[in-house]
Amino acid sequence: MEKRILTGDRPTGRLHLGHFVGSLQNRVRLQHEYDTYILIADVQALTDNFEHPEMLRQNVFEVALDYLAVGLDPERVKIVVQSMVPELAELTIYFMNLVTVATLERNPTVKEEIKQRNFKRGVPVGFWSYPISQAADITIFKAHLVPVGEDQLPMIEQAREIVRRFNGLYGKVLIEPRAMLGTVARLPGTDGGAKMSKSLNNCIYLSDPPDTLRKRVMSMFTDPTRIHPTDPGHVEGNPVFTYHDTFNPDKAEVEELKERYRKGTVGDVEVKQKLHAALDAFLAPIRERRAQYESTPARVREIIMEGTRKARAVAQQTMDEVRSAMKLSYFE
Ligand code: ATP
Ligand code: MG
Repeated sequence: MEKRILTGDRPTGRLHLGHFVGSLQNRVRLQHEYDTYILIADVQALTDNFEHPEMLRQNVFEVALDYLAVGLDPERVKIVVQSMVPELAELTIYFMNLVTVATLERNPTVKEEIKQRNFKRGVPVGFWSYPISQAADITIFKAHLVPVGEDQLPMIEQAREIVRRFNGLYGKVLIEPRAMLGTVARLPGTDGGAKMSKSLNNCIYLSDPPDTLRKRVMSMFTDPTRIHPTDPGHVEGNPVFTYHDTFNPDKAEVEELKERYRKGTVGDVEVKQKLHAALDAFLAPIRERRAQYESTPARVREIIMEGTRKARAVAQQTMDEVRSAMKLSYFE
């Protein structure tokens, strides 16, 4: 059997540079080696957006456009809408018996996200237990590899534990997935925060038009200890330089800027202008491909429907095996 990839994104907004280096880049690189399933995780996104389901509706389409824009090949990759594969909900229920409350409570990423979200009426059970439904997402497609950012490592570990437990109890049906981190495991935000994240408003989006990109870059957080361009500055931990390292292919230029920054012989404006130029060149082909697909929305819808249909067939097959292993196929 051809090895599989499963990964995905929540349709809570358009995709950004963090998604690119954390996961999209690996998906594009590996799409011809692996049978690839990319999940638009609307059910997961509902867990903290259930009061605004209309927001997900538009973003399902936007996220699919971003996938196509970065070069995922619709002939090859299955783009899948989570809520249209109801077998995922069934597997989630079975998995719930295999995880303890204590384990869920220890998940460091969920803990952090709960703090960020500041749920007013308490933490919804759906949100708190999303690592379980994510394990169902990964395992229903029997994925070997899951390209993700660093924040998702506890989720993959949780999925692995569930698989070991399931296979131990019921027989070897599921595959233990492996995480694969991107070139940057966690890209910082434009505000200098630890993670660029749709929910934190500190993003540069893959679809940002040139003028928006310029504004976002020119207003980026830099070295707060530096007041004048003649002050020696800090390069480490400075997101402008992190982005230079990641997206500027001219390494000599980056080294020269760093040296001058440390000495206090270059201003933030010049460093940012050069970053803007590099990012603009990086985003240009992505914007162009996006515009092509935006002009054929019926084609994009068809790609999503077709990907979901193929994925659902795989999910149904796995669920037959799961029910039979769990001795739930009473009348066969
Ligand atoms: P939200 O704030 O709604 O959770 P998000 O920006 O965290 O959105 P997700 O859809 O949760 O995006 O994440 C999708 C994938 O992108 C995951 O694999 C995640 O690890 C990865 N990812 C997201 N942000 C970053 C980042 N800043 N650096 C590296 N990888 C990232
Ligand atoms: Mg997230």
